[in-house]
Amino acid sequence: MRWKGRAQSENVEDRRGRGGLIGRKSTSFGGIAFFGVLLLFLFFGQGKNLLNIGGDSTSQEQAPSQQRTDGKQDEAAEFIRVVLKLSEEVWGNIFARSNAHYQQPKLVIFSNSVVSACGRTSSGAGPFYCPGDNKIYIDPSFFSELTRMGGKGDFAKAYVIAHELGHHIQSLQGISDKVTRMQQRMSKMKSNQMSVRLELQADCYAGIWAHHTEKKHHILEQGDIEEAINAAYAIGDDHMQKRAGMGVNAASFTHGSSKQRAHWLKIGMLHGDVSKCDTFADLR
Ligand SMILES: [Zn+2]
Repeated sequence: MRWKGRAQSENVEDRRGRGGLIGRKSTSFGGIAFFGVLLLFLFFGQGKNLLNIGGDSTSQEQAPSQQRTDGKQDEAAEFIRVVLKLSEEVWGNIFARSNAHYQQPKLVIFSNSVVSACGRTSSGAGPFYCPGDNKIYIDPSFFSELTRMGGKGDFAKAYVIAHELGHHIQSLQGISDKVTRMQQRMSKMKSNQMSVRLELQADCYAGIWAHHTEKKHHILEQGDIEEAINAAYAIGDDHMQKRAGMGVNAASFTHGSSKQRAHWLKIGMLHGDVSKCDTFADLR
């Protein structure tokens, strides 16, 4: 992916180096559930109590820390800023075409743990979007984890950021609220199925980002598309269950199978069109 030297977003808060000690207390949630059950809890705000175990009040917002200057971490931060900037252009244009204003999200870079309107969260939960404050939260150390899981390369990382941005779009569209309300009246299994639809739509929206960014800026290099699709495979629920040594249990899926995730990402990349990302269509 050709991203170096591109314009960077101003909408990034760098909170690395803060909250580390408290973060260690809450690492009991870490490592297992990123992009899975725990993230779902965060996303729907159901995990508030659960996530507060490790710390005191969730209302202490911390001031952005000084940016650290160590090489690898800073390259990751620069990369995040570039992807966010490109997304501001893509989604700004898409909203403008329907005469709507795109409310740009803030993105918080953190290390160890972070406090958001969704509670206190440790890095182990993976990147997440909190609809309560319209912010995306990413600990760049997740990218090494993604590589270990089979999601190698820059474009795989971009897909993860674009997926979280997809949740922001869903929040602006009122889709996430609607789904949450529906889930309150559903069985666990049905509720999981709704989560899968929401997640697959975020994957499709990530594809939309890729489609328009490539069209305008020609950022893709040989192998990039495969990188993103491999990442989508790697974080599919079936793949993650197998990787954790568990049997594959489709009823417990919250994010979709590897095949579904790769499919919807491809749909977004192919069409670049929100109307093609209707993962709820057959419910109507
Ligand atoms: Zn998601």
